[in-house]
Amino acid sequence: ASEINPGCSGQVIVDLCSVVKELVENSLDAGATSVDVRFKNQGLESIEVQDNGDGISPQNYETLALKHHTSKLATYSDLTTLQTFGFRGEALSSLCALSHFSVTTCMAADAPKGTKLDFEVSGKLKGTSVVAAQKGTTVSVENLFNNLPVRRRELERNIKREWSRVIGVLGQYACIQTGVKFSVSQQAGKGKKTSLFSTKGNKTTRENIVNVFGAKTLTALVPMDLKLKLEPTSGPSQRWSTQEDGGQKDIRIVGHISRPASGEGRTTPDRQMFFVNARPCGLPQVAKAFNEVYKAYNGSQSPFIFANIELDTHLYDVNVSPDKRTIMLHDQTRMLENLKEALVFLFDSQDY
Ligand code: ADP
Ligand code: MG
Repeated sequence: ASEINPGCSGQVIVDLCSVVKELVENSLDAGATSVDVRFKNQGLESIEVQDNGDGISPQNYETLALKHHTSKLATYSDLTTLQTFGFRGEALSSLCALSHFSVTTCMAADAPKGTKLDFEVSGKLKGTSVVAAQKGTTVSVENLFNNLPVRRRELERNIKREWSRVIGVLGQYACIQTGVKFSVSQQAGKGKKTSLFSTKGNKTTRENIVNVFGAKTLTALVPMDLKLKLEPTSGPSQRWSTQEDGGQKDIRIVGHISRPASGEGRTTPDRQMFFVNARPCGLPQVAKAFNEVYKAYNGSQSPFIFANIELDTHLYDVNVSPDKRTIMLHDQTRMLENLKEALVFLFDSQDY
């Protein structure tokens, strides 16, 4: 079974990127089909995430931002088949402690009014007020880290790098989530709000990619659908040999990769995106395998890669880091060997 420990707590909010990630994941967990992310001064002033999801039930108002409050786990056993992004109940409580934080929410589609919730630093509900709102939830984070001068200074100093990470990660969610309209905008000072990208609720990841990265990607990208077969290891770590079907397990890697010399290769890091069961995550070893095989075929360029690894939830651990970004694939060495073979096959094929 996967080793997920709900009690293992850590800091989930370590930088701007983790704020954005936690808020967007909450919106997706709430079933949103529209997620609007608005920044003021690249998030230094404020980050607002508005969704059209289920909203928050009044019975959860009091406890919403208390540490370890979560509405997402019915029972402990759910942890092995985790479907939601969140399960720890830490993001909102951390944000209360680290920013000026408020939530506006509305559950009914026909109600023109919602409730604004204000919280104390401790996460205790300070007060509620009735405001105009549409169905869904808007979370507002202002002056992140203002009460932690060292961290605030560090954020300001690194804002350029942080900002590109934030946009990169938003692009990943926007591309992988089909059927969800994402829009991302930024306002500098008192200037005009500028849209950075928006997706249209597309049915395919390909259309999402075109919305985020531009029409040029349309001709540059080739669909990829790699199927890998794994057998249980015979080594000491037979972590999934207890699976009912004991024998072979499939891994599918679905996505898009750029054609050689398509001009879409010269990558900035945001042009190589990896997901495990639609969860954006850094998989440096997998990226390395892709780049190695690609280079052997296509010279020095690195490809644009959009790769979603679909596999059984028992074949990886998601909780090795508090922000859930590092995912440990079981039997990774063997999987990488298989992946390289499959890529050679793809690059040799006529479609490519
Ligand atoms: P977690 O996501 O691990 O449950 P969070 O601290 O991120 O913990 O959120 C706490 C709870 O607040 C969630 O379990 C959910 O009930 C509620 N919540 C947060 N954001 C939203 C949202 N955008 N829409 C609806 N409910 C939300
Ligand atoms: Mg959450």
